[in-house]
Amino acid sequence: MEQTITDQELSKAAGKPLLSIEDLQVSFHTYAGEVHAVRGVTYSVEQGGSLAVVGESGCGKTVTVQAVMGLTPMPPGEIKGGRIIFDGKNLLTLSEKQMQSVRGKDIGMIFQDPMTGLNPTMTVGRQIAEAIVKHQNLSRREATERAVEMLSLVEIPNPGVRAYQYPHEFSGGMRQRAMIAIALACEPLLLIADEPTTSLDVTIQSQILELLQSLQDRLGMTIVLITHNLGVVARLSRNIVVMYAGKVVESGSSSDIFYNSAHPYTQALLQSVPRLDRPSRMELASIPGTPPDLFQPPAGCAFAPRCKYAMKVCIEHDAQPTVVGDGHYVSCWLHHKANPNPLTQKLQNGGSYQ
Ligand code: SF4
Repeated sequence: MEQTITDQELSKAAGKPLLSIEDLQVSFHTYAGEVHAVRGVTYSVEQGGSLAVVGESGCGKTVTVQAVMGLTPMPPGEIKGGRIIFDGKNLLTLSEKQMQSVRGKDIGMIFQDPMTGLNPTMTVGRQIAEAIVKHQNLSRREATERAVEMLSLVEIPNPGVRAYQYPHEFSGGMRQRAMIAIALACEPLLLIADEPTTSLDVTIQSQILELLQSLQDRLGMTIVLITHNLGVVARLSRNIVVMYAGKVVESGSSSDIFYNSAHPYTQALLQSVPRLDRPSRMELASIPGTPPDLFQPPAGCAFAPRCKYAMKVCIEHDAQPTVVGDGHYVSCWLHHKANPNPLTQKLQNGGSYQ
């Protein structure tokens, strides 16, 4: 067990973190019982860094960032434990009033669906200006001028005209750019983008990702990108966290995850991403089975019923994070020193299970 590490060591591993989530546990109480949606999530992102959180729908990635924003609906939600340290403060101890000054000002968020994120009855410029008036103490006129500048920053043509138009006059890509402008209006320290390209076609997806990347380079912003698609994170994120069934199963740099992934779930996710260097007739792999029922999460590894390497220990005990490289952690018994399985020995000596 000598390589198993603590939550604090994990969260400090990426350098000086701006955001550090430690052992977060979130449940939802429903008529059918308690859903253990987030079961001890730990990750961090350093100042100026970029982190992607990847996993299937329902793995807890959005619930985790909702807790960061103080947007967990309570009830039915309940934060059962853990800490969320942002810029030195534990956000879970702040009052709703204190959180209102963090939301929008210190942390900006881009939501998945720009049509429902924007108010259809207000002009786009006014929606950007609202956030500026609320948090930056500027007059309405100054805020409107700033709103036009923000539309120009997110590369919307004719920003002076567009600021006075309504969301239905914008295309899907432009609405998402407007959402980014709102999120950035108060120059937040951290931008959380929750599936920002899911509802867009591939060309527009690429443009939005390029925009986020150039904004990060220009403004030195810290970005947390939430996505179910590993394909979209390669360019944008320096580090990646892979979540499954409410837990982090692997974390490391982008190159660790893309070229040296260690968890069978990450491997399976990568095999399901289309790649230009594979023959076009080659079928994309799918992951057989379904994620576990989070009403009654398993005692052992939640991926075991879908994992071709599952062993007896995997069913009975969950694996703790283990160091497999510099800043690269995996929660899988295959990589644990205590496991005498010959395949494990091979993996620990640098072998591959591909
Ligand atoms: Fe598979 Fe066991 Fe690793 Fe889980 S802990 S991913 S079941 S080998």
